[in-house]
Amino acid sequence: MKLPRIECQDCRRHIAAGPVAGRPGKGRLWRHDPPQRRTLYGTALVSCPGSLAIVDLPLPARQMELPDLVDTAGTDPDGMDTVPLF
Ligand SMILES: [Zn+2]
Repeated sequence: MKLPRIECQDCRRHIAAGPVAGRPGKGRLWRHDPPQRRTLYGTALVSCPGSLAIVDLPLPARQMELPDLVDTAGTDPDGMDTVPLF
């Protein structure tokens, strides 16, 4: 399953967010390292303060927008939008 990536409010990176059980529309950012973790903290396991934060997930689906069906090319002088079947 491909998880949506949401911008972390602390480090401004886009982090994967998994769904939260019982809270549709909400997600939890995955644990991630803060920027420059290696130079600041060495080998210690330090998480970004924005790790595991609850965030709003993008909508799972969007309503498709139909193209403009109005015949603007003027190819149908009768104004008929149907095609004869026989
Ligand atoms: Zn972060």
